[in-house]
Amino acid sequence: MKFNGIDFDTYFKNYPDENGYFGKYGGSYISEDLKNAMQEITEAYFTICKSSKFISELRRIRKEFQGRPTPISYLERLSNKLGNVQLYVKREDLNHTGAHKLNHCMGEALLAKYMGKKKVIAETGAGQHGVALATAAAYFGLECDIYMGSVDIKKQAPNVARMKILGANVVEVTHGLATLKEAVDAAFDAYAKDYKNSIYCIGSVVGPHPFPMMVRDFQSVVGIEAREQFMAMTGELPDAIVACVGGGSNAAGFFAGFLNDPVDIYGVEPLGRGPKLGDHAASLQYGTEGVMHGFNSIMLKDENGEPAPVYSVASGLDYPSSGPEHAFLHELGRVKYDVVNDDDTIDAFYALSRNEGIIPAIESSHAVAYAIKLAEKMGKGSILINLSGRGDKDMDYIIENYGIR
Ligand SMILES: *Cc1c(COP(=O)(O)O)cnc(C)c1O
Repeated sequence: MKFNGIDFDTYFKNYPDENGYFGKYGGSYISEDLKNAMQEITEAYFTICKSSKFISELRRIRKEFQGRPTPISYLERLSNKLGNVQLYVKREDLNHTGAHKLNHCMGEALLAKYMGKKKVIAETGAGQHGVALATAAAYFGLECDIYMGSVDIKKQAPNVARMKILGANVVEVTHGLATLKEAVDAAFDAYAKDYKNSIYCIGSVVGPHPFPMMVRDFQSVVGIEAREQFMAMTGELPDAIVACVGGGSNAAGFFAGFLNDPVDIYGVEPLGRGPKLGDHAASLQYGTEGVMHGFNSIMLKDENGEPAPVYSVASGLDYPSSGPEHAFLHELGRVKYDVVNDDDTIDAFYALSRNEGIIPAIESSHAVAYAIKLAEKMGKGSILINLSGRGDKDMDYIIENYGIR
């Protein structure tokens, strides 16, 4: 399928290019030390991860350990309430550890094992990526250092406990604002010093090449499964698909299954409290081009050109940029990116819980909220939503801040 001059039959061969670019977005803006490390990972990715041994081992792990394929559920009661549009969800909430993040962490950790590395290193904000990586490290018997700001360590006690129970070493970062940005810098520093023994495992389709490509490819299992399952269930393709976008990994993997199809694709960013800078994390909607964390993309910047403070009710979505592939698909118009605010997200959280018996993550509730609005606009047809994770982690927060609705 051709779209705006891009041939999607050969899209995955051409994007990213050999330097990690999706159009003008992506690349690798890092120190010389890290360049060698990224080169090593890129070479390992193209040799090891494309080998049949690696592919079949990862396939077995996904089936026997992660519980894949995750099902698609038809949302019968919610669809009936909305009218003539049929809503479906791809159940990444049923993936082991309760979200899609394990899909790329298992891939990254298996690659670490094949490369003979002893340790995996990462940063975490809300702790979801840290928990997924600690799980993968325990499974493969790798050491695991997770860098986390002291502010986040206090806020995210249950996830810190999970990481420690799984055997990870949670390294407290105390300088600056002591949140995610400082944790990223500390983790990169530690990695640059010890890249012979360790591998950095990024948490989304962000960072320098090859991470945006590698994480998308590991996550594409979601889209490939979903397409097959939806065809088997209904005999046709969905009219539209929807996913939430923070860094953009669940969306990138889900969209990958449908980019070459006549399907409308929607990425949903968090509008938070509103469009004022600092009140949201809708980087593609309100941001401008810039370089951050080693890659060129669209980002929210403050008056000094530094990454701006961001906010979302969903801690997994409050990142001041999105992966370079999303910036590219946005520019191309192949994917439409739109926003949903906190209030509509909480309504959708309850709508799915009450009507379907599925408690979604607040991140994923953004996609559900958007699909509900889209259903009203479409009037008929079908929408497949990627339910990136389950909401158990969010229940205390919801009760405390919004009460039972
Ligand atoms: C981390 C997280 C997200 C956001 O990350 P992406 O890279 O944008 O997918 C979304 N949903 C859940 C459940 C998460 O844990």
